[in-house]
Amino acid sequence: MNKEGILLIVSGPSAVGKGTVVKRAMSLAQERGLPIVLSISMTSRPAKANEKEGSDYFFVSRDEFETAIANNGLIEYNEYNGNYYGTKREFVEDCLEKGQDVILEIDVNGGKQVTDQYKNAVTVFIMPPSLKDLETRIRLRNRDNEDEIIARLATGRKEIAGCGWYDYIIVNNIIEEAAESLLSVIEAEKHKASRNINMIDEVLGDE
Ligand code: 5GP
Repeated sequence: MNKEGILLIVSGPSAVGKGTVVKRAMSLAQERGLPIVLSISMTSRPAKANEKEGSDYFFVSRDEFETAIANNGLIEYNEYNGNYYGTKREFVEDCLEKGQDVILEIDVNGGKQVTDQYKNAVTVFIMPPSLKDLETRIRLRNRDNEDEIIARLATGRKEIAGCGWYDYIIVNNIIEEAAESLLSVIEAEKHKASRNINMIDEVLGDE
């Protein structure tokens, strides 16, 4: 039987670069043949010009999303700026059962819902080097007006203030280093005694 995979939740303030870190970690994992997969979320928000169905999100209508909620098809979901976002249960549970490690890139609220149900889930918070740096990154994206920038910063500040419950904090200063740290967390978690408790009987069984 395969050993169950690790469920890794990655959160962090808007514009901290968590998507970039996760993408880099995924491509390093692929090069190294590591069994790590990224969960693609479902959302009711319309796709943006450069976004692809099934690789950025699964884009659905509000009705379809609400049907998925009613059918217990989601592990967690949240409403953000009037749109639903959620994690598909079947994909995650199938992968974990096959022994694949699954990364969820979700907000703090979603992270809490997942850890309530999956006690072995591992949580990582991606931290900016400073608030000033976070503000620069939000401004450089050139996507938001001044009010939105202020709102995103205020939310980011709150998320940072409340991130003490996460298992790990990784500072996104240099992307390559942050991506390696993410893979190191998975590697370390695989060696946790509580995840390898069967090994005791397996080894002693040889006596
Ligand atoms: P965006 O519209 O910018 O792609 O995402 C908006 C927010 O929704 C981001 O904070 C993102 O991390 C979060 N998000 C994306 N997918 C999920 C999900 O499946 N569940 C939850 N709870 N949040 C998500």
